[in-house]
Amino acid sequence: MLQTPYYLIDRAALLRNMAVIDRLQALSGAKALLALKCFATWPVFDTLKPHMAGTTSSSLYELRLGREEFGGETHAYSVAWSDHEIDAAVGHADKIIFNSIGQLARFEGRAQGIARGLRLNPRFSTSGFDLADPARPFSRLGEWDAAKIGQVIDRISGFMIHYNCENGDFALFDAQLSRIEAEFGALLERVQWVSLGGGIHFTGAGYPVEALAARLKAFADRFGVQVYLEPGEAAITNAATLEVTVLDVLDNGKKLAIVDSSIEAHMLDLLIYRQPAKIAPNEGEYPFMICGKSCLAGDIFGEFRFPAPLQVGDRLSILDAAGYTMVKKNWFNGVQMPAIAIREIDGSITVARQFGYQDYRSSLG
Ligand SMILES: *Cc1c(COP(=O)(O)O)cnc(C)c1O
Repeated sequence: MLQTPYYLIDRAALLRNMAVIDRLQALSGAKALLALKCFATWPVFDTLKPHMAGTTSSSLYELRLGREEFGGETHAYSVAWSDHEIDAAVGHADKIIFNSIGQLARFEGRAQGIARGLRLNPRFSTSGFDLADPARPFSRLGEWDAAKIGQVIDRISGFMIHYNCENGDFALFDAQLSRIEAEFGALLERVQWVSLGGGIHFTGAGYPVEALAARLKAFADRFGVQVYLEPGEAAITNAATLEVTVLDVLDNGKKLAIVDSSIEAHMLDLLIYRQPAKIAPNEGEYPFMICGKSCLAGDIFGEFRFPAPLQVGDRLSILDAAGYTMVKKNWFNGVQMPAIAIREIDGSITVARQFGYQDYRSSLG
């Protein structure tokens, strides 16, 4: 038996998302690239590769991982490239997307062998959370002045526009894409490819995939462009759990259960966005607050209901643990880092990676 804590990635669940991606690509002509910033657990890339055109990245290391472990089309984006990174980046990439006209001007000479693009910031987004809103005031994420962009349009072949954030509302997507068409159409007509970024929650239950596909196809036809999508979360949603064990139960006015994991260290994104973790079925007579074992006072996964009182040794599965978890895990408090395990198609479980004291030590010196 594998010791908890561990992330458990389910290949069959990945394939359910891939079936939607297959359908979306076939109907729309768009190409889907995995956004590695969300999920980069390469031991399961073999399950994703046949269904996605390649990867996109936010740094040299993500870019290199995409090239080496995923293959296919490899898009390179970074908020800012360093002088000492650019040659390596160009060496790994098929397309490089500059965040600013300044970076384009600085590095285009060294990127002549590959396609060059620019990040376009439409100055609106679907994000209601300032921290993650690419269109927040004074945003550094992309160029927005159509006149300025027009002056360099001959030096690029495409745009990346990332402005959706877990957007499950097709009507909103449709309306915002229409705004992009209206405000930037003259620029879009002059390029060959447009990436619409990530954040479209098209693998969610009930999402109108056919309508999205038709909308993307209409956009591609109107401007004569190859459309790319960069799903992170949508590609891997609901495809992993975080498996933990109850270590202690307390009653401090509320029933508390402390588990052998930490939201700060192992599901940091939830803490940052102040969202509770998910546990199912979350029904029963006995409410418990599920707490992490770091010494951070607010290291709390959430409050859930159980059919019986929790006891030391009980196992819990925290759901939807693939996106923005493993890529953000850290050694805070020296808490045991979860292993990474895979539920294979035949139901057997293989262990991709276990972490120990030497990994903790070597992360610091
Ligand atoms: C974060 C990000 C993505 C992936 O976003 P998801 O919400 O995980 O789909 C794609 N492209 C860019 C440029 C991003 O910054």
